[in-house]
Amino acid sequence: MEDQNPTDTAGSAPPGVGRFAPSTTGEAHPGTLLAALLCWLDARKNGDRVLLRLENLDPDRSTPAFEDAMQQDLAWLGLDWDEVTRQSDNQSDYEEALDRLAEAGQLYPCSCSRAEIRASGVRTPDGGYRYDNRCRDRALPPGGWRASEEPLRARLLEGTFTAVDLGGDDLTQDPTASFGDPIVRRRDGAIAYQLACVVDDAMSGVTRIVRGRDIMSNTASQVAIQTSLGFVTPEYRHHMLLLERQGEKLAKLHGSVGATALREVYSAAELCGVLVFAAGMVERLEPMTPTERLDGFSWDRVSHKDRLAHWAGRVLEVSGDQGQ
Ligand SMILES: [Zn+2]
Repeated sequence: MEDQNPTDTAGSAPPGVGRFAPSTTGEAHPGTLLAALLCWLDARKNGDRVLLRLENLDPDRSTPAFEDAMQQDLAWLGLDWDEVTRQSDNQSDYEEALDRLAEAGQLYPCSCSRAEIRASGVRTPDGGYRYDNRCRDRALPPGGWRASEEPLRARLLEGTFTAVDLGGDDLTQDPTASFGDPIVRRRDGAIAYQLACVVDDAMSGVTRIVRGRDIMSNTASQVAIQTSLGFVTPEYRHHMLLLERQGEKLAKLHGSVGATALREVYSAAELCGVLVFAAGMVERLEPMTPTERLDGFSWDRVSHKDRLAHWAGRVLEVSGDQGQ
């Protein structure tokens, strides 16, 4: 870490940069708020800068109203940011990255349907189906990638990629074998998640990515894209999730309750206390602000296991460790 660098005699190593990057396709839910809190605590504890990046590239589902609500709900909880960015402002960065991938021969059109991909029958680590890279030899149209009316995929470098996970999780994976080449530009021209995320992190100088464990299996694909584009790979930490029972299965605690309903029954300090308790950081429920939590914050005290939660109408119930 920069602040422990013994060669920095001036004592003025630049701070690290963290980021919280929610998609603005819906209301914040308890999992969103907990992820934001953990990211903020991590950065503030380190003396790092921390950015809020509103991921608003999905033209079908992202709305300005959700962007506003996300900012207001995070501010209400007591979280502040050194900078707020919107992916929709970064289009020229994405286009430059696509130009570079095209120049390197790493961009190709692919109209394979979901059904065709599913027919391969090979599952991905996140429960989808692997794309078998079958269109890799297809050329871009004469006008280049901008003229493509098909989705575009990035041809990832072959082999194993990994990165440092500060929580000790193993990020090693061969993404071309586990997932296949990712879509980087959709048919409608929207930039896809993997590319946007990598480009934004690099442009913002992000040094540390704190995010939920559900995205962990994407990391190697992102490192492969970073490598192709000559970007430095940040450090990662993947944290526990709030899960709820859905029939026989456990799923991310999603649509069951949003920030509007939570704010009707909890004060900000009460809800922060519930989140801190849910993450296993304290033994009992007690209202506290994020700033009050900062002093005692340590990842050693955050549960490494996912936790079960349930919205019971007027209260967010949290039970014990769930296992992984
Ligand atoms: Zn294809």
